[in-house]
Amino acid sequence: MNSPNAKKTTSGNASPAGVHAAEAADAKASNFLRQIIEKDLAQGTYATRKWGGSPGDGAHHEAGQPDPAKVRMRFPPEPNGYLHVGHAKSICLNFGLARDYGGVCHMRFDDTNPEKEEKEYVDSILDSVKWLGFSWESNFNGPNGPVTEEHLYYASNYFDFMYRAAEALIEHGHAYVDEQTAEEIRANRGDFGKPGVDSPFRSRSPEENLARFRAMRAGELADGAAVLRAKIDMASPNINMRDPAIYRIRRATHHNTGDAWCIYPMYTFAHPIEDALEQITHSICTLEFEDQRPFYDWLMERLIEAGLLKAPPPRQHEFARLNLTYVITSKRKLMQLVNEKRVSGWDDPRMPTIVGLRRRGYTPEAIQLFADRIGVTKSDSWIDYSTLEGCLREDLENKAHRGMAVLDPVKLVLTNWGEVFGSDDYTEDCEAPALPPAVLKNLPEGTPAPAKRVFKIGKEVWIEREDFEEVPPKGYKRLFPGNVVRLKGGYVIECTGVGAKDAATGKVTEVHAKVIPDTKSGTPGADSVKAKAAITWVGAADGVPAEIRLYDRLFADPQPDAGGKNFLEALNADSLQVVQGFVEPSLANAQPDDRFQFERFGYFVADRVDHDPEKGKVVFNRVTGLKDSWGK
Ligand code: ATP
Ligand code: MG
Repeated sequence: MNSPNAKKTTSGNASPAGVHAAEAADAKASNFLRQIIEKDLAQGTYATRKWGGSPGDGAHHEAGQPDPAKVRMRFPPEPNGYLHVGHAKSICLNFGLARDYGGVCHMRFDDTNPEKEEKEYVDSILDSVKWLGFSWESNFNGPNGPVTEEHLYYASNYFDFMYRAAEALIEHGHAYVDEQTAEEIRANRGDFGKPGVDSPFRSRSPEENLARFRAMRAGELADGAAVLRAKIDMASPNINMRDPAIYRIRRATHHNTGDAWCIYPMYTFAHPIEDALEQITHSICTLEFEDQRPFYDWLMERLIEAGLLKAPPPRQHEFARLNLTYVITSKRKLMQLVNEKRVSGWDDPRMPTIVGLRRRGYTPEAIQLFADRIGVTKSDSWIDYSTLEGCLREDLENKAHRGMAVLDPVKLVLTNWGEVFGSDDYTEDCEAPALPPAVLKNLPEGTPAPAKRVFKIGKEVWIEREDFEEVPPKGYKRLFPGNVVRLKGGYVIECTGVGAKDAATGKVTEVHAKVIPDTKSGTPGADSVKAKAAITWVGAADGVPAEIRLYDRLFADPQPDAGGKNFLEALNADSLQVVQGFVEPSLANAQPDDRFQFERFGYFVADRVDHDPEKGKVVFNRVTGLKDSWGK
């Protein structure tokens, strides 16, 4: 399904996004990975490397051009699900470090497990990384001019090399075919307090092992009948060094190699080889792989000794994974939410997947800011969800255009309208700035006047139900009989009382008020009458009905799956409320993915799937409120 590995072209120039530079620099100062990379650069650890050709067969380990990238990182997802916010941290780290040190980050699919991997996931992962603002291309000057290399790789393209590496280990007495049952292998591995017991197959000769391994490959043994194991030390205090399995028999069709193989390399064997073949310099992973590092190094040494790889080998470095409160970052559990239809799909705006965050209205810049702000450490901790939301608010504050929407509409009738303006059908344009106040204040001199939003006021407008009280509670400043308020950007009005009520429920269905002439915002008379408050509204004449989806956190428990809890029980029953409201025309005409601040309510995004104004479908998602409403 995939093309040859390194595709070379001579054009194109991808520039990954760089944001909030000053702050990022702060976070970067304390980053231990930077110190490691800087030390390697200073010592010239990888300076002698040569690069060229495709890593598939390891041939580029021979001569070639000096490697133009000083630092090679990789992001190695398994294509068995959609990426989530934890992966976003890893993406920002890998691609960000490579960018900052003039290197390159490889996009590599770790597709060594034939059963769960699908093209749908591959496509979505590529799309998510791009959307986050990163690129797996490198641009440099070659001997014949500028070169662009694309570094998109699949572990499965290295299966031949991995097989050869396994045979080399066997030939050098470093691997054997074990035909114990899975239970025997487990029992003989021992545990923390008990050393392992040698397998009766451990002393087979290299010739015999080679023959059995070839029999495995030829399909002569049943699934599970044998495994190839590295021959290291059954008494090692590190259980990962007690002869780990490196190949298993599995008759399954692979998305890339089809039925070419009935044996597949184990992840712990495959991953270091993938890194080495691609000449990765710094292979960073989450802390749970710390105990695997000795095997990583062992394998590199053996394959260098065998002449299959060249020194210096890549090195593994571990960092703490992202744990975010109110969020689950297990692919298996996220998949369960999708399969059990607890959410509408992987891109449900409540999902912590990158596609979900995107649909919710998150920006790549906000996610990058978040990654920079949380930094990278070597010890596990929890990050509060409000940190992520805070980054988003910060990013949108000066970006999102303003607009008015009414989420719980009730009709307001200006009863003297016809009398004042000569006709009940008369409407008048109102104007207000679309840009955020801070941006307006800081416009460089000579900037042409920024565009304004235009919306109509007429005899009837929609107001927020909570902005009217028949009998006002103490301190209430909005509409109640006799009170004077401003319709934001429009006229000052005086409330005269209830216009109508629903006979059955007693709910107010219409509020009455009188318009006070010559008080329109922006006119000389605007301040002639003092209003107690300014309320948001949408004109009945040009307001557009909109479906507004009020999203909240998916889980009500800050650690929904900690300590063996059933995360399904922690689902927040109020995580989605759908309301039918009205929005002003500038919002209704938004493109999918356009983000706005609805005055007083927070940030909203035109839904990238369902919003289609040409078909009369206006659909907004609440991204987040103006303030953190979950605070302690
Ligand atoms: P699994 O392997 O169980 O399917 P995974 O989350 O490890 O799940 P991968 O596709 O292997 O999925 O992850 C790709 C990369 O993302 C790995 O390098 C991994 O370390 C990193 N990663 C995954 N989850 C997190 C997290 N919560 N925080 C930081 N990095 C993460
Ligand atoms: Mg993994």
